Amino acid sequence: MARDGSLLLALPAAKLIEPLPPMPSVERTISLHEHAREPRPATTLRWPVAEVEALLALPFADLLFQAQQVHRQHHQPNSVQLSTLLSIKTGGCSEDCGYCSQAKRHHTELEETPLLDLDTVRTAAQKAKESGATRFCMGAAWRGPKQRDLEPVLDMVREVKALGLETCCTLGMLKEGQAEQLRDAGLDYYNHNLDTAPEYYGEVITTRHYQDRLDTLDRVRAAGINVCCGGIVGMGESRRQRAALIAELANLDPHPESVPINNLVQVEGTPLHDRMQGQPALDVFEFVRTVAVARITMPTALVRLSAGRRELGEAGQALCFLAGANSIFYGEQLLTTGNPDVDADRALFAALGIIA
Ligand code: SF4
Repeated sequence: MARDGSLLLALPAAKLIEPLPPMPSVERTISLHEHAREPRPATTLRWPVAEVEALLALPFADLLFQAQQVHRQHHQPNSVQLSTLLSIKTGGCSEDCGYCSQAKRHHTELEETPLLDLDTVRTAAQKAKESGATRFCMGAAWRGPKQRDLEPVLDMVREVKALGLETCCTLGMLKEGQAEQLRDAGLDYYNHNLDTAPEYYGEVITTRHYQDRLDTLDRVRAAGINVCCGGIVGMGESRRQRAALIAELANLDPHPESVPINNLVQVEGTPLHDRMQGQPALDVFEFVRTVAVARITMPTALVRLSAGRRELGEAGQALCFLAGANSIFYGEQLLTTGNPDVDADRALFAALGIIA
């Protein structure tokens, strides 16, 4: 059983490597949170942005070696956790996230669907379980749930939990009291991504603030629900800004239990597709570097390959696993973008000797 409660099958003890020397301490005290929009009181920061950026700049082999060391200190080295994601309410969202096909103001081909019924969700969760997933994530395209939206989702959480799966929801911003209702229904994880660095955030989203996201994460944490929080890279941000995103995640106290790292999938009709003209902003090595740095700075987290995994190809994914990724979204569809099919994932795991 991993620290966050997900089921990871272990390799025989004989295959584990010898204990590694302890990693140098990264605790330090500085006077200001150097990349926040507003000064914060003196605090202990584990990862200043400059140090995360320095990690990103390491020679590739040195970075992966360091990430492997951290990974093997905290996780079974050849195990990957499987999560399946279901869009329970698609499209028609009031927000303006520049990467998202579900914003109603963006001109995409996406077909809107209302909230799924309970039977449909239960059937999908059962199928995910039979395919090997241990966690079932339910996503709804809302700014945040109204109480009348939340009630049926609570029923879904209860049903999925009753199947013996870990439960996760991503429903947007939560108001006071909503996290507690989700917890009481049996929610194990709440996903709410920071998306990008504070200083790049306004280039991507204008309808809510970075602090709104941090407030929702605080509510989730205070309710005792595990935090799933990551971001999207390849949105035109600089390396420094990628470092700032990772630092922001790593300096959450405690750091998230799950960290999805998405590589932007440019969907036609979204502002980021228009801005980037379909040209990938990140090469595969930079993406692998980002995964490695997430592993080093958040040693006990499940680092999850999320959107954009198919575009990495098999060799790219293998490098990500080497860099410390140990979770994937599993199943042929993410919220609205494609994913490698289950057979392809199984074949890749077999080729790499990964147990899932
Ligand atoms: S990412 Fe979520 S909040 Fe943003 S537009 Fe898409 S569905 Fe809405």
